[in-house]
Amino acid sequence: SEEMLRLLADTLVQNAQSLKSSSDSITLKLAGAQKEIMDLRENLARVVTEAERDFLTGVFNRKTFDKRLKDAMDDARAHESELTLLMLDIDHFKQFNDTHGHLIGDEVIKIVAKTLSDTLKGTDIVARYGGEEFAIILPHTPLTGGIAVAQSICKSITTKELKRKSTGETFGIISVSIGVATLHKATDDAHAFIERADKALYRAKSTGRNRVIAEN
Ligand code: GH3
Ligand code: MG
Ligand code: MG
Repeated sequence: SEEMLRLLADTLVQNAQSLKSSSDSITLKLAGAQKEIMDLRENLARVVTEAERDFLTGVFNRKTFDKRLKDAMDDARAHESELTLLMLDIDHFKQFNDTHGHLIGDEVIKIVAKTLSDTLKGTDIVARYGGEEFAIILPHTPLTGGIAVAQSICKSITTKELKRKSTGETFGIISVSIGVATLHKATDDAHAFIERADKALYRAKSTGRNRVIAEN
């Protein structure tokens, strides 16, 4: 009957409206979930970056250095390319801290890290190896190239006068010593490679500091 048809039509309209409103609410929920996923992705990327980096300076931390060095060594072996490592240590830094305090000392560590990042190429890897020590991995670089890079780092650090911007107070000049070693592909593991750079650094210290010494 006509009455039945009208009832049926009303019911269909009601059902359609209710379907539309639940689909609207699902669309809203989906948009919310998508935003949540994007936020989580951003957070994850930040956490991953933070875990790789040194908190004070923003350069890579020791753990990342170990991993990147192994990767760089594998890469040098696979592609028959040269790989050079620099170990850098700030000179007489205990004395500097004793004179100016640890907080100023921290600022100096940051300045050294920034100088390194500014001096080096994008493919080079800078890491804070310990308190006032940095390690620099130079892929596709022979020993002579590493020595040149190290000398330019030494120079740019000694030519910086450390100054507190707000007051103009000066803290003098600092220097660094750098040991340079190149990968001996046939025999080196990471430990032996680091040890040679470290020995060269030790000789840079014992022969007067503010200098670059390469492995024998
Ligand atoms: P050398 O020229 O032989 O390297 O002398 P040095 O005084 O730099 O070396 P030493 O190993 O005797 O002392 C390192 C000092 O670096 C000890 C500490 O006062 C300072 N240091 C290490 N880590 C930090 C840090 O995170 N912040 C600050 N402000 N100082 C640090
Ligand atoms: Mg040291
Ligand atoms: Mg030192």
